[in-house]
Amino acid sequence: MVACTNSGGGSGPANSPAEAPSTFPSPVTSTVMSSRLPSEPFDGVESCKDAQADTASDESIASSSDEETWTDNHRSVDSCEDYRVARWAEVYEDPHGPKRVFGYDGYLFRRVAIRRTIGGEQRTHCVRVYHPRERSREGKKVRVSEWIGPSWYRLIENSLNRLPWHHLQVVHAFVIDDRPILHGVASFSREDPSHDARDGHTIWLNKRLFLEPNGWGPGNYGKYWAYRVNRDGQRAHGQVPEHDLFSPVLLHEVGHLVNYSVVNGSAADPSCPPCAYMCGDHKNCAELKPAQREAFCVTSYCTGFGYASGTENFAEMYRWFYQGRETRELLEQHFEPCHRLLESSNGAWKAPWDNGMGEISSYRKTLWDSCDGTACRAW
Ligand SMILES: [Zn+2]
Repeated sequence: MVACTNSGGGSGPANSPAEAPSTFPSPVTSTVMSSRLPSEPFDGVESCKDAQADTASDESIASSSDEETWTDNHRSVDSCEDYRVARWAEVYEDPHGPKRVFGYDGYLFRRVAIRRTIGGEQRTHCVRVYHPRERSREGKKVRVSEWIGPSWYRLIENSLNRLPWHHLQVVHAFVIDDRPILHGVASFSREDPSHDARDGHTIWLNKRLFLEPNGWGPGNYGKYWAYRVNRDGQRAHGQVPEHDLFSPVLLHEVGHLVNYSVVNGSAADPSCPPCAYMCGDHKNCAELKPAQREAFCVTSYCTGFGYASGTENFAEMYRWFYQGRETRELLEQHFEPCHRLLESSNGAWKAPWDNGMGEISSYRKTLWDSCDGTACRAW
């Protein structure tokens, strides 16, 4: 969530008519035999089999709603060698070379398959999850390869499974290399694939998302409860391979990509919809008192750091919409235009909590600076 700034300083949202790239670049890959999933209970063939056997029940959950409609804008792949069945991680060899900004050449990757029956056919979306062996492309020592395991991939899978297909399909890859300081970065496309890996379809994450339980995070206007997972006191790491946790923080990050490609219609358009505008978009920050500036905010983390646009505000609203009934209702009561937009975009996709996927209840309200760090609002 922190460092999701999209507007690149004070230049403001750039409206670009460019088409969203619809295909995943074809990477050159090779399989290596040196990167078995370490440290988590996934070492034996037995547990591999168990995991595969459980897949059927996952699919029955995901496919229990057959209410989505398959259209020309929906995409599916023929096959996806999921992390459950791929014994070894592969090495990514960047076809554009190792020097791309935000690049991840040489990282290991596995795949997460999202499968759902829509229009009477099984559809598959394949997401890649990259991490460095020892050092990030920035040269930092990053201890991910010794930690990452099935419970991490499962958190990504469960989070994406909550979303309608035309939302989740805009997510092509996660890169866990600690580039973001706190949670994640979900940048819009720079439309320069030869030099910049930010394609509007990739999310960079910090490993803390998987290793730490929930806690207070610093926002622009106070403190917000950082929901790394949906249950306080737990963390993704160390959970059984088929755990049922999901990550509201990941929903927030996906919300950015949905903002660009689905709401705006272009992976290169970082502007937020008017319903999420902040004073930077209204161009009246200087005229407003702190409490008035906050009033646009769904949580205290509602603008990027450095530019008071509502891109973060929209991502937070997106998280609210898909994390639980309570926040979806808060959204409807207090931020109705964005609720309407999300309802419309969601279409017939059933609420995740009505599909057996759990939810956040007893939502922790923001502690607002303007109220001396208390939860003075209804949200
Ligand atoms: Zn963000």
